[in-house]
Amino acid sequence: MSLERSTAMLSKIQAISFDLDDTLWDCAPAIANAEKALFSWHDQVTPNITKVHSPKSLQAYRAQVREENPELKRCVTAMRMQGLKKLLLEFGYPQELAAEGFSVFYQARSEVVLYDGVFDMLERLRRSFRLAAITNGNADLQSIGIESYFERVYAANLTLLEKPAPDMFNRCLADMEISPEALLHIGDNPLTDVHGAQAVGVQTLWFNPYNYDWPEHLEPANFEAQKLSDVVALFHA
Ligand SMILES: [Mg+2]
Repeated sequence: MSLERSTAMLSKIQAISFDLDDTLWDCAPAIANAEKALFSWHDQVTPNITKVHSPKSLQAYRAQVREENPELKRCVTAMRMQGLKKLLLEFGYPQELAAEGFSVFYQARSEVVLYDGVFDMLERLRRSFRLAAITNGNADLQSIGIESYFERVYAANLTLLEKPAPDMFNRCLADMEISPEALLHIGDNPLTDVHGAQAVGVQTLWFNPYNYDWPEHLEPANFEAQKLSDVVALFHA
């Protein structure tokens, strides 16, 4: 893109939406820790389950639950609750325990290590832009400590379809009462973040910390950054 054109595009931006997992923190270690915490909880509270199941076999169990409940795929929370309830029932434990198990998982899942520069970036950008979060996951921004930066937070659920579906982007535009080109969506995933946002006319920035090649079959993002400080630099914020 020419410098004139990219400057013109940037000048239209009034709001910035962020993907969360793998854009503001590394997701896999947090999920792995959460799985461990949940397994320890099972060990203490529902020991008959851990007599039979290993962490690995529980993973396979959840994969099967996902297969059996395609309608829940869009909501990671509902899917996990369903898996927990089914497991508890099979072993004769009250299904009401599912909420306790989920909260153990959820708390650990939200203990993420933010990427370098997250606070600095959000602090600088919020001086000039309205900020939103648009996630297919279920991290708890309040316990992570960044909730106050975001005017709006959208997480996929049973009625708000997961990215790349347009639902959350459109909801964000409507709630903020801005046109699509006034929003810049920043995310690590070429399909769910960049392609999804492009489809509704939203501007896009591909966050690419591992310097991957762009998938050729997709239209490139308007902007790309390898570090969060590059995002700040883009706006001279
Ligand atoms: Mg992501």
